[in-house]
Amino acid sequence: MAAYSSPHGIYCPNCGSSIDSDALICPNCKRFTHATELDNLATRARQLVAMGQLQAAREHWVAALNLLPSESSQRRAVEREIRKIDDRLSPSSKKDWTKRLGPLGVALAAIIKYKTVLLVLLTKSKLIISAFAFLAVYWALYGWWFAVGITGSVFLHEMGHYLMARRFGFAAELPMFLPGLGAYVKWQGAGVDPNVRAQISLAGPFFGFLSGLIAYGIFLSNGKPIWLAIAQIAGWINLLNLIPVFIFDGASAMTALGRQARIAVLVVSIAMFFVLQEFLCIFVAIATGFRLYKRDFPANPKQGVAYAFIALVIANGFLSWFALSQARLLFPR
Ligand SMILES: [Zn+2]
Repeated sequence: MAAYSSPHGIYCPNCGSSIDSDALICPNCKRFTHATELDNLATRARQLVAMGQLQAAREHWVAALNLLPSESSQRRAVEREIRKIDDRLSPSSKKDWTKRLGPLGVALAAIIKYKTVLLVLLTKSKLIISAFAFLAVYWALYGWWFAVGITGSVFLHEMGHYLMARRFGFAAELPMFLPGLGAYVKWQGAGVDPNVRAQISLAGPFFGFLSGLIAYGIFLSNGKPIWLAIAQIAGWINLLNLIPVFIFDGASAMTALGRQARIAVLVVSIAMFFVLQEFLCIFVAIATGFRLYKRDFPANPKQGVAYAFIALVIANGFLSWFALSQARLLFPR
């Protein structure tokens, strides 16, 4: 309990003598007026450190700091606890890397002091490291701009899932890249309404399609064929993801489609195969045929989800086909 008040003023909770309302030490018994509160804060802060919740622990220590008189040894002890947490929050010792980097290091050290920046780096380091590993694979194979384009396109695809999952209130994690393979967003999808899952699944190919349009826009502005190639591959990757098998986006989206909608996807993808000569369309058709046969139809299919599925198959198929046709036309071998 903190110092308590009465109609006549504030009393020391330890000895009961009358004290100033802002007194941190009782002038009579010389004990801390907030002793109980301080004990509680310290206990909680240590628990939080043990649980690895350093930021929350730090806030508890800072709160304790405000209840301690400036010249007390307890205050210095709390300051030491805060420094320990700060060291753990920025694991690389500031001194040695600031020296190595010179003035740049000093600037970086100043930026790092803002805990929000630090937190961003800590919580997003998995994304950043995995994205660079992913990029490095394509850089080594096809060069810098191709690597940037493909990494950016895959990133946008995953952000589609992430943002849609967040929109529905799920605690989604930021994308993780699997170098040479792809990427994924982790979220708790078990037991979720198939229509909601389908929307989160389809948001990926939708954002992926937009990334292809952006690449095509860059091609229009600078005329470099690499961006046409990126637009083509973006469309292709997203069409691939719409095949309703394995863990592809198409598989969970198809779960929300009723019999008629699946027949529509089947017909559209067969027609697209004949128009575009794109083999992925045949795979979409075969896998959709299998899902028709499986009869895992939803209880209450929503038409909007079916339309979105079909629109995305068409959009990504045509994007890939269109970019490839234009590349053949403009840059014949
Ligand atoms: Zn996806």
